[in-house]
Amino acid sequence: MKFKEKFEKRVKDTIKRYNLLKKDDRVLVAISGGKDSTSCLYLLNKFGYQTEGLHIDLEMGDWSNKNIENVRELCKKYNIRLHIVSMREIYGSSVCYIKEKIGEEISRCMICGVMKKWVLNRFARKIKADKIATGHNLDDEAQTVLMNYFKGNLMLGVNSGPITGTIEDKKFVPRIKPLYFSPEKENYRYAKIMKFPVLFQRCPCAVGTYRVETRAFLDKLGDKAKKNIVENFLRKLPELRERVPKTELKYCKYCGEPARNEVCKNCSFVLKIRSSCS
Ligand code: AMP
Ligand code: ZN
Repeated sequence: MKFKEKFEKRVKDTIKRYNLLKKDDRVLVAISGGKDSTSCLYLLNKFGYQTEGLHIDLEMGDWSNKNIENVRELCKKYNIRLHIVSMREIYGSSVCYIKEKIGEEISRCMICGVMKKWVLNRFARKIKADKIATGHNLDDEAQTVLMNYFKGNLMLGVNSGPITGTIEDKKFVPRIKPLYFSPEKENYRYAKIMKFPVLFQRCPCAVGTYRVETRAFLDKLGDKAKKNIVENFLRKLPELRERVPKTELKYCKYCGEPARNEVCKNCSFVLKIRSSCS
């Protein structure tokens, strides 16, 4: 089998093996403009699911403008409905400003990740999507497992895996990762072969983070080690999920989104920004 067919088959097999999508599911793909989420959007559409894209404009100058241009071009070419929302519309400021205000004690990627998930869940509910798909790849997932292991808390990853698993709530839209087993290098090759309009540079903001160091370490070990890491983690995952207390989810007192505490993580950031401005 040629590389392209093999690549696509692995994504299809992941969807099947982990029951990520039903035939008539409506799926909202979080598309950043990078190779991974672009391939994810393209493939789910190609496989015949009702697919729409959501791009969050992070308002990071030329980098964001180029991403918007690219996602527009892709969706036009493949006739996929695209939604764009901007950080400024939602939060009143760009993501860089928000991170600066929150300060160094919380990792920049973590702030961005929490906010993106919050936006995605609300938007998916608004358009009545059944699932949210992201472009997370094998490298991302192996890094996450290892970082949690180094922190001594694998429980931090209970909600990862090819599909989110411990939250069941009418206001929570399950998130799936169809490229869970696709090594980053192969996503790169696939996007090149397909001539997707994408930016291959990483987010200019993600420098000097713990993830960057973990990535460099894992790259020395190679794809086989990455696969072993996630597969061993997946074997452990059902047991970890059993340990999650069966307490009911709360709804954030500010935004009404599902949350483990009275205030969701997103709103705790928003409160922090406000207090630093007053
Ligand atoms: P990252 O955390 O940047 O590695 O991105 C992980 C996944 O989140 C990507 O594969 C996308 O599915 C999604 N994502 C990242 N940035 C954006 C964005 N600006 N708009 C929509 N989805 C995004
Ligand atoms: Zn909230």
